Amino acid sequence: MCGIIGYLGHKEAYPIIINGLKKLEYRGYDSSGIAVFYKNGYNLYKTKGRVYELEKKISSCKKKIKGTTGIGHTRWATHGIADHINAHPHVSNSNELIIIHNGIIENYYAIKIILLKNGFTFKSQTDTEVLVNLIEYLKKENKLSLEEAVRISLNEIIGAYSIVVVEKSHPETIIIAKLGSPLSLGINNKEFFVASDPISFINYTKSVLYLKDGEMAILKKGKELDLRKIIDNHRLNPIVKKLKINLKEIEKGEYKYFMLKEIYEQPKTILDTLRGRLLIPEKIICINGVEFNKDIFIHAKCITIVACGTSWHAGLIGEYLLEELTRIPVEVEYASEFRYRNPILGKNDVIIVISQSGETADTLAALKLAKKKGAFVFGICNVVGSSIARNVDAGAYTHAGPEIGVASTKAFTAQITVLILLSLIIGKNRSTINNNRYKFLCKELGLIPEKVDYTLKIVDSIIRKISQIYYNVNNFLYLGRGINFPVALEGALKLKEISYIHAEGYPAAEMKHGPIALVDENMPVVFVAIKEGFYNKIVANIQEIKARKGKVIVIINEDDTQVNMLADHVIKIPSTPEILSPLLTVIPLQLLAYQIAYIRGENIDQPRNLAKSVTVE
Ligand code: GLU
Repeated sequence: MCGIIGYLGHKEAYPIIINGLKKLEYRGYDSSGIAVFYKNGYNLYKTKGRVYELEKKISSCKKKIKGTTGIGHTRWATHGIADHINAHPHVSNSNELIIIHNGIIENYYAIKIILLKNGFTFKSQTDTEVLVNLIEYLKKENKLSLEEAVRISLNEIIGAYSIVVVEKSHPETIIIAKLGSPLSLGINNKEFFVASDPISFINYTKSVLYLKDGEMAILKKGKELDLRKIIDNHRLNPIVKKLKINLKEIEKGEYKYFMLKEIYEQPKTILDTLRGRLLIPEKIICINGVEFNKDIFIHAKCITIVACGTSWHAGLIGEYLLEELTRIPVEVEYASEFRYRNPILGKNDVIIVISQSGETADTLAALKLAKKKGAFVFGICNVVGSSIARNVDAGAYTHAGPEIGVASTKAFTAQITVLILLSLIIGKNRSTINNNRYKFLCKELGLIPEKVDYTLKIVDSIIRKISQIYYNVNNFLYLGRGINFPVALEGALKLKEISYIHAEGYPAAEMKHGPIALVDENMPVVFVAIKEGFYNKIVANIQEIKARKGKVIVIINEDDTQVNMLADHVIKIPSTPEILSPLLTVIPLQLLAYQIAYIRGENIDQPRNLAKSVTVE
């Protein structure tokens, strides 16, 4: 959360910073701000709200912002309300030091008390303003260089950060540092770009260094990069990688919102996730991270899946898949609960962590805890080179490409795809799945991208109609059974996230233990009622809702004739084996959430209070 960006080079910084901020807005949009430096001074602009409002404010000032060093920030507030005072950049008491920050300084209050006693004053309620003043205090007290003052201050800090610090009188130097929150450094011929996400600068350079936790860099105009360890100032060798993202992937193209584009990308992203891993004619599955650690998976006594949000729903689907195909007991945990529970873990335990961004703070902390306790950690994430990807023992990328819409869609189906592959390959190795079923599921899995494509085509008009009828209701229920119960949870989450309609997902049978009390003629109830699995049980649950005058919207297979007659609205999708069905059943639920939010006029890619890549716990 929070997007930070900085530039140091020979080009005008303002357009680089402002355009970069627009690409980082998915990380937070409570407020935004920039500072562009000239000799012995800077222009600083901040505003509540989005980057376009900042741009508007700047252009209304009619002042030319010139300078080749600049920093910018788009905020997801943790300390202090979303207003222009709490917006970053923050400036130290002497006006000399300017900082942008992503993360949380947990011990900020204790430091603030010390600084107050030493005569410092504070304009904002943020933890960040405390940090910049701590740097100033230590710098002055001990007559330190900026880099040394930053380094020593960071050694006093508890929490998470990625920061950029500039000194007004020396704008040809920038200090950057990272612990917990992401930070990447783009390098183009002694020109430096620094950002929370390299998508904000890839049109300038694809040479990127991902800072590791506990690292800082001193960037000097026209000089080579100087990378150090924060703890002891030890010099490090920079490892620069070439990014493979192409610009089209981060543009909306013909779509109004990224979320819609990403929903429609799913036939391709699922195919990309299968590519090179599922060899369809030979029915061979190969995932290197599993192949190299085969024995660990074969002999696993249990598997714990740890994740947050939509990834946690993918984990629940993983539980059904892995237990069914490998017969290994699986538990699914919220990362935030798991990490603070002192979980019982040991050498032979297998943990699977799932995160789209690979930066989710709680999941990352859970991963580190599991490794410390000796468990084997396998990661499923989307962002190549992310902290989770770098810290796991082995893993598999989802290859969904950059996901920019805050509500996750294509990353979710890509995660499920990896979990299916994983379950099949482990099941085959453990002989818990017979050869015929294995081959059949491989063949059917190969057909999924086409079926997703077909689903997107056939559900569009009916979903628009249903959305027109129900866009104004206050509540929705989503019900499913078996492997489609987590799909119901995901459908409800999507609707909540982007349309702000209260929605809940339940296992269909559980409805009788409480939620049915809410059902009346105003309550739309969405059922996932595909033919395989618990069909007759679901049909009975539909009858129960109808008997209480609830409005029933069902997702059924194309050849269904029974539910067809019962429901108020039917959304038909192609058939596939139940175990693969979440890849199809979730598609109409994503679109339903999208269409309802669209009719309600919501800002779909940037829903209120939310941000992508939750790098604070
Ligand atoms: N803690 C800082 C603030 O509230 C940064 C927030 C963040 O990175 O999410 O301004």
